[in-house]
Amino acid sequence: MRPAILFPLFADIRTLSGVGPKLEKLIAKVAGPKLADLAFDLPVGVVDRSYRPKLAAAEAGGIATVEVTVLDHMPPRIKSQPYKVRVSDETAVMELVFFRAHADYLAALLPVGQRRVLSGRIEKFKDRLQMAHPDYVVAPEEIASFPLHEPVYGLTEGLTARPMAKAVRGALEKVPQMPEWQDAAFLKQRKWEAFRAALETAHAPAHESDLAPTTAARQRLAYDELLANQLALLLIRASLRGNKGRPVFSTGKLKALAVAALPFALTDPQLEALAEIEKDMASEKRMLRLLQGDVGSGKTIVALLAMLGAVEAGLQAALMAPTELLVRQHLASLEPYARAADVRLGCLTGREKGAGRDATLAKLAAGEIDILIGTHALFSEDVAFKDLGLAVVDEQHRFGVHQRMQLQSKGKPADVLVMTATPIPRTLALTAYGDMDVSKITGRPPGRKPVETRVMGAARMDDLITHLRTALDRGARAYWVCPLVEESEKIDLAAAEDRAVMLRQALGLNVGVMHGKMKAAERDAAMAAFKAGETQLLVATTVIEVGVDVPEATIMVVEHAERFGLAQLHQLRGRVGRGAAKSSCILLWHEPLGETAKARLKTMRDTDDGFVIAEEDLRLRGPGEVLGKRQSGQEEFRMADPVAHADLLAVAHDDARLIIARDPDLKSPRGEALRTLLYLFGRDEAVRYLRTG
Ligand code: ADP
Ligand code: MG
Repeated sequence: MRPAILFPLFADIRTLSGVGPKLEKLIAKVAGPKLADLAFDLPVGVVDRSYRPKLAAAEAGGIATVEVTVLDHMPPRIKSQPYKVRVSDETAVMELVFFRAHADYLAALLPVGQRRVLSGRIEKFKDRLQMAHPDYVVAPEEIASFPLHEPVYGLTEGLTARPMAKAVRGALEKVPQMPEWQDAAFLKQRKWEAFRAALETAHAPAHESDLAPTTAARQRLAYDELLANQLALLLIRASLRGNKGRPVFSTGKLKALAVAALPFALTDPQLEALAEIEKDMASEKRMLRLLQGDVGSGKTIVALLAMLGAVEAGLQAALMAPTELLVRQHLASLEPYARAADVRLGCLTGREKGAGRDATLAKLAAGEIDILIGTHALFSEDVAFKDLGLAVVDEQHRFGVHQRMQLQSKGKPADVLVMTATPIPRTLALTAYGDMDVSKITGRPPGRKPVETRVMGAARMDDLITHLRTALDRGARAYWVCPLVEESEKIDLAAAEDRAVMLRQALGLNVGVMHGKMKAAERDAAMAAFKAGETQLLVATTVIEVGVDVPEATIMVVEHAERFGLAQLHQLRGRVGRGAAKSSCILLWHEPLGETAKARLKTMRDTDDGFVIAEEDLRLRGPGEVLGKRQSGQEEFRMADPVAHADLLAVAHDDARLIIARDPDLKSPRGEALRTLLYLFGRDEAVRYLRTG
């Protein structure tokens, strides 16, 4: 249970005075639903009102605070025009401009002949000074009533600065005095304030430089958050490790049968990864291993061979993939080897329903299915294995941490192998996976030629189509990818359909179409036709991104390549170059081409090393977009930035290990305080894993 001391901070935003349902919704959209979310929503800018020039010397374009006398009011002659008020100090005259203003209100605010202090943005038109809608208008003796420095928060349409700032202030007032969870000597060495003080400081910037991730206050807060993250990952892992796994022994008999049926020899990196996995499985400890390997590096077959080990030991295995399409593909490609080893495969996705599904579940419970392949439907309550020994999660970046945990906690502790084709930059691996063991498959299966990548403006579409026609006439198979932008799915689908029509006409060929809005069966049919060569060109939205395997395809055209992220482009390009023939990837860009997009396309042209691309992606885009918000931890991090605070992350990682080594149940006084820290950052789940909650 969350400690009582934190209750006020975890109240809903609407409990703040002045926040009604409408405002609550807007604030929740930018910050989150709880006061804690608001308190952790650090400013993104600062308005500095400390510039106090005489009017004649005032620099235009900036925020200034000036003291003036009100000269006269000039109400508009027609309503659509602004109401003006002239003011002056001893150096110059300035016009105040108000649109849609009430004369009575302005007369009271700016009485003629009175001194007033104004703060706002000063503009110069020809030689006339203007200030439109001053932010503050007060009598000189009230100057202290407005802040000289104002934090600026992220806003959304309909949400203005003042109510947001006021809500944040309200939330900050609810931050309780909490016991210190950081080591005193460490704080002293870093010259960091206490948590609450640091939070206050971070919300009270005076200059741009106070917004940098390197300020003491922001570092302290980031460190707290990173420590909570690392502690949580360690606790969860310790507990998973704690309920001992069981040694899974196999003589390799089934594996040998499958290997004999392979049309190729396993590469050394594949064999090494498999050996590491088998060693983990044979040990008493439970396996939590990440298998990283570029697209097409041959992870799936490694997973299958590992699963056969579990099956030989009398256990079951599960392979989970993110999409229906991938499940079908795994099923089809693994089938021959499973048959060679006399192993029974089963399949469970959202499409299995009714009696068929019941039969699969019954077989699964009876142990009559050895390897179950499926989508997240595997997580359903009623899915019960007779005895699950190994769970493999494919293309992991589509799943979140919690889903990983769920599968792990099913039945008796199973070994877990997570496979990802998204090469994960080192800094991110720590936040997303904590201490998972990692195996890497480097390089590609032999005989693969690198994919030739060309970057081309859409203006040269005609050239491209001429080229394509020649290649297709010779029997080549090609993908043509149109981007799918979620907000306007309809328009994009129409674009894909239109493109297919256009290409059909231009090429005089069978052109297939595939997109996410099609029924699964239609999609499979489109895919099957392409695989069989009945359609030589497949126009698709990014549904083909993950894992699709048609070795005969040698051309990949990506339209609007400037809209795709690097990881996505890399995945797409990985769809070709899978067979022995030479492949090419054409990245078509449309205007306008921004600097970042240009850099992305250049990277794609220069390298096909997934790890290099991942590091570059991280540099260009930041962690959230590289891995998806949840997995990168960006959704979980409010104040830390795994990239900007990478050094702190490493320290937090070591710190967390030390803490758990000394005080595994978090029972010491510092341990108690650390529990509060975990709750403060919403790591409630981790606290539940403590043996003594
Ligand atoms: P990944 O899942 O890592 O993207 P896959 O396991 O789908 O890659 O493998 C891609 C393709 O390479 C498949 O067609 C597979 O049969 C083939 N393959 C796997 N290992 C080898 C190998 N050692 N030699 C040749 N081809 C291989
Ligand atoms: Mg794969």
